[in-house]
Amino acid sequence: MVTAHELRVGLIEPLTDDSFLLGFAVPPQLRDAFAYRAGQYVTIQTELTPGNLERRSYSICRPPRQAWPDDPDADGLLVIGVKVLPGGRFSEWARDHLRVGDTLTVLTPTGRFTVRDDSPGRSYGALVAGSGITPVMALVGDVLETNPTATFVLHLINRGPDQVMFARHLEQAQRRWPDRLRVVHHWSRTPGPDGTAAGRITDDALVELLRTETADGVSEWFLCGPQPLVVRSQAALAELGIGRRLVHTELFHTG
Ligand SMILES: Cc1cc2nc3c(=O)[nH]c(=O)nc-3n(C[C@H](O)[C@H](O)[C@H](O)COP(=O)(O)OP(=O)(O)OC[C@H]3O[C@@H](n4cnc5c(N)ncnc54)[C@H](O)[C@@H]3O)c2cc1C
Repeated sequence: MVTAHELRVGLIEPLTDDSFLLGFAVPPQLRDAFAYRAGQYVTIQTELTPGNLERRSYSICRPPRQAWPDDPDADGLLVIGVKVLPGGRFSEWARDHLRVGDTLTVLTPTGRFTVRDDSPGRSYGALVAGSGITPVMALVGDVLETNPTATFVLHLINRGPDQVMFARHLEQAQRRWPDRLRVVHHWSRTPGPDGTAAGRITDDALVELLRTETADGVSEWFLCGPQPLVVRSQAALAELGIGRRLVHTELFHTG
């Protein structure tokens, strides 16, 4: 059962011009309640205007093993990645007003965007856009750390290089697992070095990408991005014969 707790903000750190890490200190007595699986999210409850309780969900970006220190008496740090939307009530408020030491009401983790089959040697794939990278950061770290023969390919769609959340963390992960992590960037607004025109990834290109990776062995997929992208990819993977249980989707926004 999900329960609500007051947590102290223990970390605020920029990721890009319009996104940042937000970490909550989890005291030892709440560690069990806030235990989570990679890919899950928490919900923050705030009164942005008096009398109006609002809720926003954010995926946890750190693998569980990195959240909890070995010392059972020390606080853990549960970290999320927030993208600031123009006019976004919570994200702009958090960027402008939230400070380390403040407290927020946070609901315990939940969600089903998690690994189904963790047997040795599995290949996982993710196709994400923008802030959709957040839960996948936890998944990549968790899978590659805990399953020494697993591989992960990550297709990442952003407007341009300066929009990539976790760029530095991704580079570190690639250095750590050069043979087991492949990151492929797709720019939707920036021409490539060879001058190729960039634009929204076409349906044909999307199907081809999923077909190629699946033929190369990816057997479990994580899709997180705008609804049309997720729906098209889901349909393509169904046609390729990947069972629904092995295609995970997370929609941040349905409008
Ligand atoms: C399960 C789940 C996990 C999520 N994880 C993350 C995460 O890890 N990082 C993150 O930054 N966000 C995440 N979100 C989205 C987040 O909950 C908020 O919806 C988002 O931050 C916008 O809130 P806001 O109050 O700033 O904007 P609002 O004031 O609610 O909305 C401002 C405007 O933006 C539109 N809008 C709302 N959300 C989006 C969106 N995602 N994309 C485009 N337009 C949008 C609204 O329709 C409205 O027009 C997640 C959502 C869900 C359901």
